[in-house]
Amino acid sequence: MIRTILNILFIAALVLVLIAVINHASNPVIGTKKIKIITTLYPLYDFAKKIGQDKAEVTLLLPPNVSAHNFEPKPSDIVKINQADIFIYTGRFMEPWAEKIIKSISNKNLVVVDASIGIKLMSAIYHDEDEPIGSTDPHIWLDFNNDKTIIQTITHSIVEKDKVNAGYYMKNADLYKAELSALDKNYIKSLSSCKSNEIIYAGHYAFGYMADQYDLKYVAAQGVSPDAEPTPKDLIHLIKQIKKNKIKYIFYDNLSSPKIALTLSKETHTSLLHLNPAHNISKKDYLNNKTSFLSIMQDNLDNLKIGLECSQ
Ligand SMILES: [Zn+2]
Repeated sequence: MIRTILNILFIAALVLVLIAVINHASNPVIGTKKIKIITTLYPLYDFAKKIGQDKAEVTLLLPPNVSAHNFEPKPSDIVKINQADIFIYTGRFMEPWAEKIIKSISNKNLVVVDASIGIKLMSAIYHDEDEPIGSTDPHIWLDFNNDKTIIQTITHSIVEKDKVNAGYYMKNADLYKAELSALDKNYIKSLSSCKSNEIIYAGHYAFGYMADQYDLKYVAAQGVSPDAEPTPKDLIHLIKQIKKNKIKYIFYDNLSSPKIALTLSKETHTSLLHLNPAHNISKKDYLNNKTSFLSIMQDNLDNLKIGLECSQ
């Protein structure tokens, strides 16, 4: 009799263990396990980290210092994506390789997030000869309102994986959105008090969304991708414009060749200021963990205030 009872208890325990294993396999983030998130670019990485905090393990796919525009994932990156709970990319114009990888993924539980969903894309208005007419500007994160939409999209994907902590993620997202609103107010206040409203950028056309948002004129030496070198004709046109408008400062892009910025600065006797499009982060900043998307955007505002001669 006792033996029969023991047998029944043993079978019951076995069934419970099996149920637990099956549940765990279908929803890998139940319990104390962190949600595994892979993002392509730095802004998405920073957003996901701030929303997920200690409940998420966020990985930046792009190695520090690597240019986002010519990045191609390695087979080991594809394995990483396949093992994640959530994969977040900017959109098909920034990462044309992403769609092919998504199709090849065998992990049925992976939630794929196209961060450009719900965002009105701007057309790439400055064209290099090799950029097809009708191409779209992929730098959607350089508009703080777009960032709020992206944060919302990322939060939904995390909640889908961990409904129990939905309130926690939504609170973190609201805090980030409030910081973006405060920064946006500072941009509006400062950029409406400047002598100049013209950004001359010795780099690729990355700040189109920001220029549109704050009613700035924006001229870049290259198109939406930093790969193509500007033609001598483009450079002569920029030099003429800098001289004609008596521009004192020009801005440079850490992703493009410093040769363009140095040539323009030398030819026009202008000073150089850094304007960081934040696609990626340097190794030093990645390791010291003090830099954030918001701090990069604050540094940009500080330099814009100098370069455009703003009083506030
Ligand atoms: Zn870019």
